[in-house]
Amino acid sequence: MSIYDYLIVGSGLFGSVFAHEANNKGKRCLVIERRNHLGGNVYCQNRDDINIHFYGGHIFHTNAPDIWEYVNQFVVFNQYINSPIANYKGELYNLPFNMNTFHEMWGVITPREAKRKIAKQRALITHEPQNLEEQAIHLVGTDIYEKLIKGYTEKQWGRKCTELPAFIIKRLPVRYTYDNNYFNDRYQGVPIGGYNVLINHLLEGIDVRLNCDFNTNQEAWRDIADKVIYTGTIDEYFHYCLGELEYRGLRFETEKYNIDNYQGVAAVNYTDAETPYTRIIEHKHFEFGTQSVTYITKEYPVFWKRGDEAYYPINDEKNQNLYQQYLIKAKQEKNVIFGGRLGEYKYYDMDKVIQSALHLTEKELS
Ligand code: UDP
Repeated sequence: MSIYDYLIVGSGLFGSVFAHEANNKGKRCLVIERRNHLGGNVYCQNRDDINIHFYGGHIFHTNAPDIWEYVNQFVVFNQYINSPIANYKGELYNLPFNMNTFHEMWGVITPREAKRKIAKQRALITHEPQNLEEQAIHLVGTDIYEKLIKGYTEKQWGRKCTELPAFIIKRLPVRYTYDNNYFNDRYQGVPIGGYNVLINHLLEGIDVRLNCDFNTNQEAWRDIADKVIYTGTIDEYFHYCLGELEYRGLRFETEKYNIDNYQGVAAVNYTDAETPYTRIIEHKHFEFGTQSVTYITKEYPVFWKRGDEAYYPINDEKNQNLYQQYLIKAKQEKNVIFGGRLGEYKYYDMDKVIQSALHLTEKELS
């Protein structure tokens, strides 16, 4: 008999939720984490009483009452509503694309005027949009595409909008109301005290080891438990035997300022092509901080190579096909379950990750 029922590889949301549920059901769990801290990319580092979203800003939002209820068991969420600002060469626009944006762009005042303007510009696209550029023009016309989408997206993904899948831009709402809420979901907020509170509560009473890399010694780790829940990159698990999946990398540059307010909002997107970063996050605004200092982080999208942190899966046709081949191998792998953003190679929001971990628990443990 192994020492543990489950070895959970990775302490991000997927691994932590699964470990919590399994532990509640009396299963013996060990969570191992390659980094020197828990929480995967929701990890926050506290400096001067400000929670710095160490791997980029994370705003929790969901439409699912059960998921909202689930996370609220562990931490209290504040009333933060994401309303980022776009800065295009010094011109400021509200996001997501809504009547405020249309007014700022064209001076239009009524939804009717805005619709007319967009209808005229989208006339170019007469067929079902085939790529991100066509999808964006179809949604909001050429002016908004040129100023608020093209530069940002091409920096973010390191590819031409004509070579990117349309679904990426469908994440963003387009509204004909004066409503700057970035999300359509019913529930939204940031955990008071940061995401570490959520992760620490999920993992309370569970064995955890930091600085442990499963992939450098798979055989030994597998002996420790009856089953493995693997949340790392799926291609790495198989030693890249079918080739490498592609990801987009990120580099974060954090600066401290001895002022209380740097930009007046948590997120400013720099949507031109020349500014090398995509956005500046001012962390204190996620929690309505009143400290006398502030921390900002510039987010630079970078070329990803093996060994770097993998942030965004590139879900284009080529990579999806390769993932499907890895998936076949994954299904043949005995007593190993792959999950989460990296294990499933999926551009997942946090609530969907939790949902997927809870589905797995139901399947595995009921
Ligand atoms: N996007 C854009 N301009 C913006 C913000 C987003 O064109 O100012 C596009 C871009 O293609 C991006 C996508 O919308 O990849 C999704 O943006 P979101 O903010 O949802 O991405 P995330 O926060 O996951 O990086």
